[in-house]
Amino acid sequence: MIVSMKPGATKEQIDHVCDKIRSAGYLAHPIFGETRTVIGAVGSGNNRIAVMALESAPGVESVVPIRQPFKLVGRELKTEKTEIRLDDVVIGGDRFVVMAGPCSVESRTQLLETASAVRKAGAQVLRGGAFKPRTSPYDFQGLEEEGLKILAEARAGSGLKICTEVLTPEQVDLVAEYADILQIGARNMQNFALLRRVGRMSKPVLLKRGLAATIRELLMSAEYVVSEGNPNVILCERGIRTFETMTRNTLDMSAVPLLSELSHLPVIVDPSHATGKRSLVGPMSKSAVAAGADGLLIEVHPNPEEAWSDGAQSLTFAEFDELMTVIKRYLAIEERRL
Ligand code: PEP
Ligand code: MN
Repeated sequence: MIVSMKPGATKEQIDHVCDKIRSAGYLAHPIFGETRTVIGAVGSGNNRIAVMALESAPGVESVVPIRQPFKLVGRELKTEKTEIRLDDVVIGGDRFVVMAGPCSVESRTQLLETASAVRKAGAQVLRGGAFKPRTSPYDFQGLEEEGLKILAEARAGSGLKICTEVLTPEQVDLVAEYADILQIGARNMQNFALLRRVGRMSKPVLLKRGLAATIRELLMSAEYVVSEGNPNVILCERGIRTFETMTRNTLDMSAVPLLSELSHLPVIVDPSHATGKRSLVGPMSKSAVAAGADGLLIEVHPNPEEAWSDGAQSLTFAEFDELMTVIKRYLAIEERRL
């Protein structure tokens, strides 16, 4: 339920409402807006009547139910868009954010060269997997902590923020020591123990849509993270599995404006995993700008032909640089910029 306070409600009145919500068995989730405070009463409490009765408490304007199952990440409770701040990089704000880098961290040289190339082209975040979720147990699984150390070195040298994947709840502390953004991969979108675990961290979480996940399921997974106390979730559309075999996945571009309608969380697009084809990354990146995405996640490799994973969808430095020029033009049409 949403308890809307009157404009100018006092701190005591807000605290009183929060206490009542908690004693009815719900989580009280206050959101302090510019003119008024709204308080979400969420959870499995069993005393709706006590919350509804708050309508007559001092300072309360109204109490209404939240219709959607995703209570905290939905627009009903919080209408303003969430901006996630990493020093000077803001995700979900006016500026478009590009995260770029190799699928896997392979070596120091590979990553440092990539960091410098993508930074020069205008990316704000460096991506790269140190722990890789691979379909086959015989494929390269990542450099693990050594990879994280290389990512940290690349950050120190380039000033870029780091986004890297965490595969298990046990790895969260280690990965969070190095990463600025914790990536939850498509295969882990419904790993609820992992979602709860990153929900107890303060670092932003990049949550990728599962291979066969509906938009509602993606939002419910984000709800797991936010309900544990971490409000900083970035949603990522990375393609879903359909009957089509000519592309690696089918990019559901309509998910981008729809997610923004339903949720206040930032939404980015990963055209690399969505298509699996280098030639499609540019066109889909342009469409992502038109669809209103807050940013892009793009795989870039010094020599895609020799990449240890996902070479076919990785751009060369020159291709990435060219794409960034085009993206800047498309952003200008939308009166936005990098
Ligand atoms: C990745 O970003 O390298 C990755 C494994 O992506 P996804 O989880 O979307 O397949
Ligand atoms: Mn990849």
